Amino acid sequence: VRRNAGELEFHQAVSEVLASLEPVLEQRKDLRDACILHRLVEPERQILFRVPWVDDAGLVQVNRGFRIQFNSAIGPYKGGLRFHPSVNAGILKFLGFEQVFKNALTTLPLGGGKGGADFDPKGKSDAEVMRFCQSFMTELQRHIGADTDVPAGDIGVGSREIGFLFGQYRRIRNEFSGVLTGKGVGWGGSLIRPQATGYGLAYFAQEMLNTRHVSLEGKICAVSGSGNVAQYAVEKINELGGRVVTLSDSSGVVYDPEGIDAEKLAWVMTLKNVRRGRISEYAAAFKVEYYAGQRPWMIPCDCAFPCATQNEINAEDAATLLANGCTLVAEGANMPSTPTAIQQFQAANILFAPGKAANAGGVATSGLEMSQNALRMNWSREEVDARLHGIMIKIHQDCYNTAAAYGQQGNYVAGANIAGFLKVADAMLAQGVI
Ligand code: NDP
Repeated sequence: VRRNAGELEFHQAVSEVLASLEPVLEQRKDLRDACILHRLVEPERQILFRVPWVDDAGLVQVNRGFRIQFNSAIGPYKGGLRFHPSVNAGILKFLGFEQVFKNALTTLPLGGGKGGADFDPKGKSDAEVMRFCQSFMTELQRHIGADTDVPAGDIGVGSREIGFLFGQYRRIRNEFSGVLTGKGVGWGGSLIRPQATGYGLAYFAQEMLNTRHVSLEGKICAVSGSGNVAQYAVEKINELGGRVVTLSDSSGVVYDPEGIDAEKLAWVMTLKNVRRGRISEYAAAFKVEYYAGQRPWMIPCDCAFPCATQNEINAEDAATLLANGCTLVAEGANMPSTPTAIQQFQAANILFAPGKAANAGGVATSGLEMSQNALRMNWSREEVDARLHGIMIKIHQDCYNTAAAYGQQGNYVAGANIAGFLKVADAMLAQGVI
């Protein structure tokens, strides 16, 4: 704790994982002797840099850029870039740490990392975002590469930002390589990558419901956020027969009891991805309720899909969800439920899946984009979607079976942490003290 003073989210993520690993470490003296845990919680490398840029008024602005290269025991560092004013080392270390386990669960050869900047793209012009991205990449480019570290998007980094970042990398390095994922389909991107996290989340939820012999058909679903993950979660939940009644952003939540169908979702995609507007406009357009400053968890639902940010479901929200009859919580965002909220879900014996398992479809499809880049080939939409679906089924099986093997049937937190840990820890053990 002293060594990582003030890094609250990092402590939270590490505590959750370490608690799950106790039964494994009791059995595995070799891992204890090799000090695997001490090595695992220390990033291999942390890069911190200045990002100077010029705004539209001609004034010089300075932001702080980061890349946390957490663990490369099973493959090149892989993980998103987040542009948000809240970004700091503690948040990126929590995200990088989680990414190590998530990437191991995907069955692909991917290490874990995370990066970003305390830059807020909201309210900036396209030209300002481009100048920021170019300055950010001017420094980052010396630390990354297709076989070293392959960043992707995250909050505040979508296709526009990936385009500017990739352009600057290509220009400085004079090479066209798979150094970033989430690229446009015409220049090295993979079909289904934009959809992958949201689709994967719905596939995972479907597998969870199967264990109780029910399905998403007819289920009332609450989704938070209205960005990349939320949008495609809604699309797939609709396809699987669920009815999504909420979306939100950092200003508030809309409640549409009739359901956010394909037509309304297309409107939201234009609002958020093209016009870059606020979700409150949905309420005016479709004549539904808008609750300023609220999150969706007070709305009665069968299934909850937090897809916005960390710690967005607290103990009080969890109690409300349970009181209203919610039977499944699957995390699209990273660590959206606080530890007490998770304890409440588990005590109530509802289905609960942590982000590192349920939202792994995004990074898995990034891994598929890397494979296509290495092969210099493009797979069809159907092929990528089928691989994504297969990977989500496999992650679910691994989590479910691993939890059962350690006497914790149905505990997806334990299953994900243990299965991810064992893969990375055994690789570290085999590679010596490095
Ligand atoms: P986007 O930037 O596309 O969307 C984020 C959404 O969450 C926006 O609606 C945003 O609202 C809202 N939000 C962000 N911060 C806050 C906050 N502090 N309070 C309330 N709402 C907030 O990001 P993504 O959809 O890509 O990411 C969402 C989550 O999913 C993150 O936790 C991310 O780490 C995780 N994730 C993303 C993956 C991906 O492939 N994109 C993969 C795996 C996980 P506003 O516009 O008002 O800020």
